Amino acid sequence: MKITGKNHIGFSRSANGTNTYTTFNPKTNQANETLFYEASTSEIDEAVTLASKAFDSYKEISNTAKAAFLNTIADEILALGELLIHTYISETGLPEGRAIGERGRTVGQLRSFAQLVAEGNWVTATIDTALPERTPIPKPDIRKMLVPLGPVVVFGASNFPLAYSTAGGDTAAALAAGCPVIVKSHPMHAGTGELVANAISIAAEKTGMPVGVFSNLNSAGIEVGQALVQHPAVKAVGFTGSIKGGRALFDMAASRPEPIPVFAEMGSINPVVILPEALKNRNEEIATTYASSITLGTGQFCTNPGLLLTVKGTALDQFLKNLSHQILDISPSCMLHPAIKKAYEHNKTTLTQQDGVTIAAAYDKPVTPNHAPQVIATVDGQAFLENTKLHQEVFGPFSLVVVCDDIAQLHTIITQLEGQLTGTIIAAEDELAQYAHIVTALQNRVGRIIFNGVPTGVEVCPSMLHGGPYPASTDSRFTAVGIDAIKRWVRPFSYQDWPNDLLPDALKNENPLQLNRILNGATTQERIVQHEASHV
Ligand code: NAP
Repeated sequence: MKITGKNHIGFSRSANGTNTYTTFNPKTNQANETLFYEASTSEIDEAVTLASKAFDSYKEISNTAKAAFLNTIADEILALGELLIHTYISETGLPEGRAIGERGRTVGQLRSFAQLVAEGNWVTATIDTALPERTPIPKPDIRKMLVPLGPVVVFGASNFPLAYSTAGGDTAAALAAGCPVIVKSHPMHAGTGELVANAISIAAEKTGMPVGVFSNLNSAGIEVGQALVQHPAVKAVGFTGSIKGGRALFDMAASRPEPIPVFAEMGSINPVVILPEALKNRNEEIATTYASSITLGTGQFCTNPGLLLTVKGTALDQFLKNLSHQILDISPSCMLHPAIKKAYEHNKTTLTQQDGVTIAAAYDKPVTPNHAPQVIATVDGQAFLENTKLHQEVFGPFSLVVVCDDIAQLHTIITQLEGQLTGTIIAAEDELAQYAHIVTALQNRVGRIIFNGVPTGVEVCPSMLHGGPYPASTDSRFTAVGIDAIKRWVRPFSYQDWPNDLLPDALKNENPLQLNRILNGATTQERIVQHEASHV
């Protein structure tokens, strides 16, 4: 298969636009060859119109057929073999192991949504049967389930070209829910995106899905994404990226004549609180663990530990020596793109030039182009409290250590933090009880709390919450990782006194899908006998 640079619109390829661009190999510091064609206004409209038409039939497709579609996407991604891995590496500078691992995660996500859909219980069928004899007024028969929202636009992340991009978590969850998807391809990995889009199109055709169930639009700048968010037929948006980008799209969606939800998963500095006993007793071990976590993937993870909070003293002095020593021992690695490297240098400089900030360790040997030298900076608690510029994410291998006067100041700082994806407590067992107010304060600011670990590494499983209070995400009630992500693309819908034959299978008296349903308040797989459902 050859990468063409064209847009995928329904089952066709299209390149009507005049704007072209290329991707970039940060390892070789050279542009890649393929010319990508940015989607034109008419192509954007065609993709959304097709998605809107596809919605009515796609949402009615059986659970088994939808599961087959998702599993076939996974098969087709694997069938891309070396070409996909090679393209991924050439557009990101990331190593082969990471490419293979991320492909495994992407395929695993698709298969877990396929299983969820095949089982069918996720629709949360809830039935309250009629009480015609109730006085003073009879009770009607009411049946509720989750139904898909309609066409969803997905913005992929620069730092997860597979797992959070074209066929990533948002797309898998939306397709599983019954929503057609239009992907706004990330310009930094457009070739990887095209290959995956092709895999989705082949899977859709093979499994008999309607034209328009999926489209992939190229973009060189922000205009394509903005046009998609403003298109009246789009009903929801999934975004993974920066706070600036996510917030702009959220505001745009809210100001439409018909506002729509934007589920944006955004940046975070992932505070790590190191309590005194742990700092004293495990000083070197914590420094080693955190030097690795801060530099993992060149710091290009949304869960990168950008903020370490602890109390001043000799243990902290020793910790800073250990952390500096460990971090300077690591060879800088390649960033995803010169633009990301530029942003890293700019944000790092802005932050380290703030009053009261001291550099504890900065890798200062020469580095190859697009490689990021890691930096650890320190600041005292009061300066941190007074300057919110110090609270901003520096996307890359950077961490700020906040030296608090005492536990009271540490507590105040936690309460002043913006919402975060994760919070970590490094502590001796008995410190959790001793500093319970610190734990509670951190819990109030984050989506996931970690004990004696690192925030990097997001396990994909049903109990994972990847989100958090704003600005970590635009809606802290939902997760972007794990099967519960499906809940972002649905709405509850009730039928009142609806004829049994015309109800969706999930709600029919006979329970043909053998779902676990909430029937008159109790969870059961039972069928409903006629006298219980006398109105239907
Ligand atoms: P980004 O600059 O926000 O870009 C993400 C996408 O949004 C790109 O396709 C970009 O289009 C588009 N975009 C940005 N601003 C826009 C606007 N005003 N209007 C319309 N579209 C807009 O983010 P990134 O550099 O790709 O990713 C790095 C960031 O993502 C970091 O802050 C990181 O923490 C965050 N992240 C968060 C998570 C999470 O799950 N919470 C996961 C991974 C990464 P163009 O490229 O065409 O400009």
